[in-house]
Amino acid sequence: MTPGLSVCTHCRGPAARRCTGCLVAPDYDEKPSAPSFYCSIDCQKAEWPQHQTDCRKLQARKSLNRAASLLQAIVYKIRMHTTVLQITSAHVEGTTIRLNGTQPSPHGT
Ligand SMILES: [Zn+2]
Ligand SMILES: [Zn+2]
Repeated sequence: MTPGLSVCTHCRGPAARRCTGCLVAPDYDEKPSAPSFYCSIDCQKAEWPQHQTDCRKLQARKSLNRAASLLQAIVYKIRMHTTVLQITSAHVEGTTIRLNGTQPSPHGT
């Protein structure tokens, strides 16, 4: 095998294409799924029924990773600008981050 050149998942020929859907998906510490290399768009289409489950899993990881860094940025901003709002919970719904918080009484109890 030529270095730098991969093998087509479908026909085992030399491949230079990769599925763009899961190309930059983070691996985390799970076992990375089989690399998706293809020699042509036809091979990619032919392999799609087998690949789509993995691909969607990897794409879900991508959006989760994005949501996590977005949440980190939000939390950082909240800490910079408000000290009175107490965040009691935060959860991610698709691409939306919901923060639930309580405003403590200014005079206390
Ligand atoms: Zn091929
Ligand atoms: Zn893919």
